Amino acid sequence: MLIGIAKQARQGAVLEEKARVEYRELPTRRLLNRCAAGSLMPFDWTLNPYRGCEFGCKYCYARYTHEFMEYRDPADFERLIFAKGFDAAGFARELKAVKPGEWMAMGTATDAYQPAERRYGITRAVLEVLAWKQGYQLAITTKSDLVARDAGLLARIAQRNRVRVNMTVTTMDAALARLMEPMAPRPDLRTAAIRKLADAGVETAVFTSPVMPGINDSEESLEAVAKAAAEAGARSFGAQLLFLKECARVVFLPVLAEKYPHLSKAYSAVYGRSGYVRGEQAGRLKERVEGLRERYGLRGTKAEAVWGQLELFPRQPSGLDAEAGRRVAGRAVGLGDGDGVAVAYREVVG
Ligand code: SF4
Repeated sequence: MLIGIAKQARQGAVLEEKARVEYRELPTRRLLNRCAAGSLMPFDWTLNPYRGCEFGCKYCYARYTHEFMEYRDPADFERLIFAKGFDAAGFARELKAVKPGEWMAMGTATDAYQPAERRYGITRAVLEVLAWKQGYQLAITTKSDLVARDAGLLARIAQRNRVRVNMTVTTMDAALARLMEPMAPRPDLRTAAIRKLADAGVETAVFTSPVMPGINDSEESLEAVAKAAAEAGARSFGAQLLFLKECARVVFLPVLAEKYPHLSKAYSAVYGRSGYVRGEQAGRLKERVEGLRERYGLRGTKAEAVWGQLELFPRQPSGLDAEAGRRVAGRAVGLGDGDGVAVAYREVVG
């Protein structure tokens, strides 16, 4: 028998059905979810206007958010998109719980500017409420140039609040981006959006996340992103090594086997026992990224550097097996739509 959010998901009215994607409504008691005390994330609240993501990145670990709704096929995450019910007055009331200095992060388990946003405008509706407020801090992580649509609104919010857009750019190679992020906008469109945001006075950062060993981790690849970020007017740059959770593994590894067969063995060795890469490889990436931040003036402010540093190190509850980690991280991340269901280990996903 389906209960809680799984039941709600099945009952949600079909909003629209395209050939590839079906949109549904998901009644939601609250949009803001507090990260648990002691969370390692550089933010305090998460805010995800949609469930599922049409961009369909091969490495996306957020696929398992659909498992909580009893959709177990990893492809459902990109095929069945849920638009959360939004009530402006209710959201304004939720905001009262956010204390001064706390960060809200939008787009940690979905992309708030995926194609659904053009139809349902929930992200925009959230921003419109914030435009009347002051003293809040919001970070938006996306891979979509649609964020530039809201440049003026974001700039208006930034007059009395702090807003930051984190654009995820894993590579400047359009073919590689198409392979790994099949439905996401091209890298050059993403950096063009950064330019528009920066011109409007919105604070921006670029993250190469994930860095996939042997695929986009070369000095040249990372430098191409950092250079494009600097030219577009971004203030900081960070990177994070691939986190290969089981739900992502079943999608990612077949792509690897087909396109990078020479890497299959190495990935099995590195990711065989854990979803994380540790040790030397993480250290080498840190050095590379630090060098690029220095070379291209992408250090940002001290606070931004902290975000960047966190990006360099996958955060995992230590000493936990996968299931226990999932429970702890779920509580810490708290993307449960008010039902207390867990979501993700890692937060800043584009
Ligand atoms: S990684 Fe981000 S953009 Fe890609 S499918 Fe997942 S949520 Fe969407």
